[in-house]
Parts: sequence; C-alpha cells; structure tokens
Amino acid sequence: MGPPGAGKGTQAKILVDEYSIPQLSTGDILRSAILANTPMGQQAKEIMARGDLVPDEVVCGIVSERLDDEDAKSGFILDGFPRTIAQAEALDEMMEEKGIALDAVIVLKVDSDALIERIRNRAAQSGGARADDNEEVMRNRLEVYSELTKPLIEYYEKQGNAKSVDGMASIDEVTAEIAELLKK
Ligand code: AMP
Repeated sequence: MGPPGAGKGTQAKILVDEYSIPQLSTGDILRSAILANTPMGQQAKEIMARGDLVPDEVVCGIVSERLDDEDAKSGFILDGFPRTIAQAEALDEMMEEKGIALDAVIVLKVDSDALIERIRNRAAQSGGARADDNEEVMRNRLEVYSELTKPLIEYYEKQGNAKSVDGMASIDEVTAEIAELLKK
C-alpha cells in the first residue's frame, strides 16, 4: 500500500522475481481492458483519466477471478488493491471463501512533494503512455488516496498485518527492507 508514485509497482515486480509468484495489479488489468476496448475498459477509461476510482464491484470482480487462476495458487502480490474499505472487506471475504490469508501488508511511506516530483519524472519517461500521469490528475489521485485509501492502513493495523517501510529510500534499500519484513 501507499500513495500513487510511492513505488508499489516497482517493488511488486521485484517480488515477482524473488518469490516466483504473480503480481496482481488492478491498474494494469484495467489498462489492458482499455487497450482491448472491452466493455469493462470502456467503463473504466474516463474514470481513470480523471484519477478517480473505478467502482468497487468492478475491481473486486477482477481480483476474485484472477485469484482462481492456476499461477496464483502458490501465492500472489496485490498491487493497487484494495483501495477502499469496501474492497478490503470484500477481499477478506473472498480469501476466507478460498481458504487463504494475507501474509503481510507492506505500507510504503513517502512525502507528498516527493511524489509530485516522481510522477513528473514518470510522465516524462512514459512519453504520455499513461493518461493519468499529469500533475492535475495526480493531485486528484493523491486526494482520492488520502480520503478513501489511507484509512485502510488503520484497518490493516487493527488486523495486525500492516508493516511500514521508508519509501523515500533507494529502490534497492526499499527492496531489502521489504525482504527483511517478509522473512519475519
Ligand atoms: P494504479 O496503476 O494502481 O495506479 O491504478 C491506476 C488507476 O486505475 C487508478 O487511479 C484507478 O482509476 C484505477 N484503479 C486501479 N486499481 C483500483 C482499485 N483497486 N479500485 C478502484 N480503482 C482502481
């Protein structure tokens, strides 16, 4: 968990190699749906371009289906999901039904000025590949994060699952810190 630009995707990809388990990124799945112009993609396109959240039922449906795939049977990394309390509750239910449990919730702590800077760099590097990588949309995404997603940290703290990492450190340092936490 962590605000947009915190490095969730970067760290998730590293964990994929380390543990040989799939990354389940709702953002990636939605972007593929937009490219393929599926009904779900059409529904999500405008919402994502504004930096708002796609409806809970849509993302929960994606995750529930994806968790049933063969490659997710020995574990998975959720990236960008859950993003609301309703999604977290749905995830708890889904996992209970499937007889699985979360090992850890990694929280990447970063400051908001640094995020704006990172997102500027990402926008420059991606050459506009992501419609939601511009400053105005970024500010909206940060607000949406503070209002709807940040409360989840407390949700997972209460469950005893949340583990914080200094997301301002270098990519390698963050990776090492996460590896330490997961060993415990
Ligand atoms: P991400 O790649 O995780 O930054 O997600 C990009 C965009 O996809 C978000 O700004 C949302 O519009 C949408 N999205 C991704 N994951 C979710 C989610 N769990 N709930 C609602 N919308 C999501």
